[in-house]
This record gives sequence, structure tokens and C-alpha cells, in this order.
Amino acid sequence: MDSGITFDELLSRPRQLGLPLCDVSLYDDEAAVVEYVWQHYQHLLTPAEARAGLYLRGMTRAVAIESKGVQFADWLDETFGAVTEQQISQALADGWDALRIRTTQRLLTERAEEIFVNRCPSCRRIVQSPLAKQCHWCKHNWRQKTPT
Ligand SMILES: [Zn+2]
Repeated sequence: MDSGITFDELLSRPRQLGLPLCDVSLYDDEAAVVEYVWQHYQHLLTPAEARAGLYLRGMTRAVAIESKGVQFADWLDETFGAVTEQQISQALADGWDALRIRTTQRLLTERAEEIFVNRCPSCRRIVQSPLAKQCHWCKHNWRQKTPT
């Protein structure tokens, strides 16, 4: 049965669960780090971490085929790597949030030299991307004028 969820929704859903982006009163640094690392450093995740943590339904091949068909399952295998049902259930053993927090902490420790947590020089909050030069929280802008 088709669950009625589009592919784009599957991809964007975890972000929508996160905190609203521009409400400073709701800024939570721990949640912001998790969101940032999962958004920008997906290539450092293991196949099971990626497929279990990027989708609310642990994306085993069987679940992928059931939700979006064989092409989607193939795309997941090519993009993130193939996984077993056991690997997915191990990844999700403590729940979806715990997986994302645990994985973020592991990457920040083991892959620290590859991860740049971009913080606003003014308010120290985490900004939208590693290359961002403007803070979406306090609107501070640290973009250098390119020399002419
Ligand atoms: Zn700022």
C-alpha cells in the first residue's frame, strides 16, 4: 500500500521535526549541532546510520521497496550503501533521536578534523552551512568584500 508520502517529504521530514530555524528563543545548541552534522556531513555516516537516521522509517531494502519501489531501494543502496535488517534495527535500538545524537557525538570525536561547525562570530550560534557568512539568528554578516 502506498503511504502517500512523496520522496521529497521523506527527505525533508527529519529537518521539519527539528526546531524552527529563526526563533532565537527556541535555539538549543545540542539540537543545532545534531541537525547541522546530519545535514552537512551525511557522507561520514555508515550506511545503517544514514538510512536509519535520515528517514523516520528505518530504510531497509524491504521497507524502501514497499514505500517507493525498487528504484528508490536501488538509489539508497548506491547513495548510502546496502544494509541488513539487523544493522538497521541495531542502529535504531535506542530510538531515532538517540541514534542521531549518538552518531553526531561519534563523528565530532572520530572525524573532528573533517567537520567544521560554523558558528556566528557575533552570537556563537550555529549557522546554516559550513560556508555560510551570515547568521540567520542575529543577522550578523561576516562576508569579506572581495578585493577588486
Ligand atoms: Zn549570530
